[in-house]
Amino acid sequence: MNHSPKSFSIMSVVCQTIGHKYTETRKITNHIHEYKCKHCGREVTENSAGNIELLTNKVKQINNNVAEFFERKNRKIPA
Ligand SMILES: [Zn+2]
Repeated sequence: MNHSPKSFSIMSVVCQTIGHKYTETRKITNHIHEYKCKHCGREVTENSAGNIELLTNKVKQINNNVAEFFERKNRKIPA
């Protein structure tokens, strides 16, 4: 049997070699999105400065607030 429990870290090596394969998981605003790597599960987001940063719990919370604000701002008719 060649069942390797290290497949996760092998995928991380793939990411280090060819780069992460990010797919969009959430839209925060027109310019800010959250992404997740299909290979290693690493989550990142764009920040307000347009840079990619690691999606930590703190950053996720900020994004939640931004998304809420963005939604409210774009809703023309009050609920
Ligand atoms: Zn990756």
